[in-house]
Amino acid sequence: MPYISLNPATRKTLKTYTSWDSNHLAEALEQAYNAQRNWARTTFAERVERMNCVAKLLHERISEYAALMAAEMGKPVREGHAEIKKCALVCDYYAVHAEHFMGAEVVQTGAGKSYVCYEPLGVVLGVMPWNFPFFQVMRFAAPALMAGNGCVLKHASSVPGCALALEQLFRDAEFPPHLFTTLMIEASDVADVIASHYIQAVTLTGSEPAGREVASHAGQHLKKCVMELGGSDAFVVLKDADLELAASFAVRSRFQNCGQSCIAAKRIIPVAEIADEFVALFIKKAAELKMGDPMDETTQIGPMARLDLREDLHQQVADSIAQGAQPVLGCEPVRGAGAFYPPSALDRVTAKTRAYHEELFGPVAAIIRARDEEEAIRIANDTRFGLGSSIWSRDLDRAEKIAGQIQAGSCFINGMVRSDPRLPFGGTKASGFGRELSYHGIREFVNIKTVWIG
Ligand code: NAP
Repeated sequence: MPYISLNPATRKTLKTYTSWDSNHLAEALEQAYNAQRNWARTTFAERVERMNCVAKLLHERISEYAALMAAEMGKPVREGHAEIKKCALVCDYYAVHAEHFMGAEVVQTGAGKSYVCYEPLGVVLGVMPWNFPFFQVMRFAAPALMAGNGCVLKHASSVPGCALALEQLFRDAEFPPHLFTTLMIEASDVADVIASHYIQAVTLTGSEPAGREVASHAGQHLKKCVMELGGSDAFVVLKDADLELAASFAVRSRFQNCGQSCIAAKRIIPVAEIADEFVALFIKKAAELKMGDPMDETTQIGPMARLDLREDLHQQVADSIAQGAQPVLGCEPVRGAGAFYPPSALDRVTAKTRAYHEELFGPVAAIIRARDEEEAIRIANDTRFGLGSSIWSRDLDRAEKIAGQIQAGSCFINGMVRSDPRLPFGGTKASGFGRELSYHGIREFVNIKTVWIG
């Protein structure tokens, strides 16, 4: 099967790529394995030099990469610029801190000497999604490479151009040949890659069904895995919140990347006392977003990444309306060739609707009105997911207490959920397990070795 790169704004084919046969794949895995064995023996100074070079190239190629993402998956170029800057930030962060994070820790035990040290595991397979085609990959690759691991990438089939650009980036930064390899394979080949004795671990960022499948293969072969899966983050607005601020961030969080973000504010939960005022502000601000050509610097909402994703989203919307939700903004696909869907909102979403229970991976907000604070907390937790969450209130002590009651990998108070290289990122429940970023992320794919000397 060829990989097809298709522009979602025009539905024109940009390029087709040939996928690999099993011989090509076997050879690439062996080459990655051999490259990693040498890389594991390099000093941190050598690794830092290469990673700094990646960061430099990312800055130099920012417009090129932003245009590539706009063409392949519809991300507006201004968001593309921000994504590439964030990639460089992750490289900088691990270039500065990896040696410290991987340093041995002496533990007093009564032995002559005892300590814990961190050693690279080997080659890590990254199975990655299309929504942040550069950042998701760098978030796994930068710490893995700095730890002394090798990386093979199975990227989403809709972004082959980005996948190959990433491989070229590491090559141009003079990483050893084959240490970072893009595998031109299909999802159905992933099981064989996990089974290969050249692969030691796997990390997947993507949907819950893909996570279940990949984690089960990893389990079968007793290989370490990290799962960064879907989310349906609660955005809880309490009666004493700064409503202007909360509405602005709710719009930003829900509609960035055309709503195709795992940590978007997907379930907006205002309490009854302020719900009318908050919802009016939210709709007004969402309606002002400028939709259009992703190559235009002023565009805030591009097309969705693929037509089939728009169809799935609209079916969720139509079913939710039939189940009692009220469409208060948008909620109809835009006519024309492109996969455009306008900023949309469903109000009065209840537990009887799909929008309440399912992840809406596109520009549609589900507004779930809560009677009071207690009910807002209950609704926030009434989901199979547990990725991010946010609480909006002027009473920081109370909001912090509520944060302790929310079942999620993160809880932001008066701030939009976002990833930061300094803080661990990941989920609970059906949002997956394991963490990326911070020292937690780099230690996911290491052998934590105890050395005891009598
Ligand atoms: P997806 O369909 O699960 O695809 C993600 C990756 O997994 C792609 O490379 C895909 O390859 C591959 N894949 C799919 N099914 C597979 C299988 N059965 N075995 C092996 N590999 C498989 O997800 P998506 O639609 O691209 O991304 C959207 C989802 O990702 C959302 O649920 C979103 O919330 C989640 N996400 C989570 C995070 C996080 O950090 N937690 C970040 C971003 C996105 P093909 O493209 O070839 O199918």
